[in-house]
Amino acid sequence: MTTSPLALFGGPSVIDAPRPHFVWPPIENRDVEAVTGQLISAVSIPERSGVVADLEDSLASFFGVRHVVTTCTGTAALHSMYAAAGIGPGDEVIVPALTFHATATPLFHLGARPVLADVDEHGQLDLADAIRRITARTKAVVAVHLWGVPENMDALTAFSTRHNLMLLEDGSHAHGATWRGQRVGTFGRAAAFSLNGPKPLSAGEGGFVATDDTELYYRVLLHGQYNKRCRREIPADHDLAPYAITGMGLKLRVHPLAAALANAQLPRLVGYLAGRETVAARMRRALHGVPGIEVPRLPSQARPAWYALPLRYRPNQLAGLPVGRFLEAVHAEGASEIDLPGSTRALGDHPLFHTPGALLPGYADYPGPGADSFTTARRLHGSTVKLPVWHRDRDVPLADAYTTAIIKVAEHHRELVK
Ligand SMILES: *Cc1c(COP(=O)(O)O)cnc(C)c1O
Repeated sequence: MTTSPLALFGGPSVIDAPRPHFVWPPIENRDVEAVTGQLISAVSIPERSGVVADLEDSLASFFGVRHVVTTCTGTAALHSMYAAAGIGPGDEVIVPALTFHATATPLFHLGARPVLADVDEHGQLDLADAIRRITARTKAVVAVHLWGVPENMDALTAFSTRHNLMLLEDGSHAHGATWRGQRVGTFGRAAAFSLNGPKPLSAGEGGFVATDDTELYYRVLLHGQYNKRCRREIPADHDLAPYAITGMGLKLRVHPLAAALANAQLPRLVGYLAGRETVAARMRRALHGVPGIEVPRLPSQARPAWYALPLRYRPNQLAGLPVGRFLEAVHAEGASEIDLPGSTRALGDHPLFHTPGALLPGYADYPGPGADSFTTARRLHGSTVKLPVWHRDRDVPLADAYTTAIIKVAEHHRELVK
């Protein structure tokens, strides 16, 4: 044994730095100035102007897309994207069974059906399973770049083309991640992103839709940005221009203070990602070959945004030590930010996806997952522990301490199963 006794049993803990160990987004003076300046200049922006236009322009140029529409949340962005893509009653959309529920839930509000498909051992959409679920009503497939690791976009693009499905993306974990050098969120017809608190790019609360498709853009506006924006941006001779005042009846605009925060953060995103890449590589190296811990596989085409570092926990390599007990010991070492994913889980395990009828009367006959389905999504969720990926040089000692805590507990696992 190369390490001191476990903190759980009275030994010295690896980490005694004060908590929290990870705070996101990093708030600097320029963020405070941007938000307070906005507070004074405008707290409601009904058309595409001011900080809303600035942020949308900056995002459009960051992604190299023609149009960006900001929204109040990522959930709203997904809702607008699906509505604008023409997904409606009876349409089926293939969604990976392991994701945050909001990738799928807006479909319920369009009368459409999320059709869950299993993921593979790496959390990527299992295309063999997805193929089995295609019907005459399947309209689209959604790519989710889980934990910021890009999906295999060669495979997904080919899949969507071959089966004549619209490719859409939920990039909420993956702002700035690339596949073959191309930013995720630019592969499909449209992409939705969250700008929620912990996301790689944060507005506190917010989201956006990105697309090159101008018709889809108009429909995003009509879905959640009624009146002034629609009146100013949809050409007067467009078929849908008469709907501008009411749109589709929903109001999902971003708050200008949130837009100001995201706009102040965006110029730093590339630096955040570069820092995270360095720290993630360091943590992966440190944990490589540690019994019970599998670091994520990375195809050479992928550059992740490292929303988190997901580690596969293999209890069979640690004398069957249950993950809960493992985490207890790691937390006792002071590595408090390591946890099991909470809300990002096998969707079929949420009541809304097996018995939605109690809340959504139109879905009383929604099939729900069979007990034997989505086995990989379930297994993966139950055996994934995630930790934050820091981005600053001065956080490297803390990142090292986290991997040291994991290694220490793995070394002492026999004492924990006794
Ligand atoms: C956060 C998130 C959402 C929802 O975004 P909100 O801004 O919280 O509404 C959707 N999909 C994924 C994958 C997310 O991580």
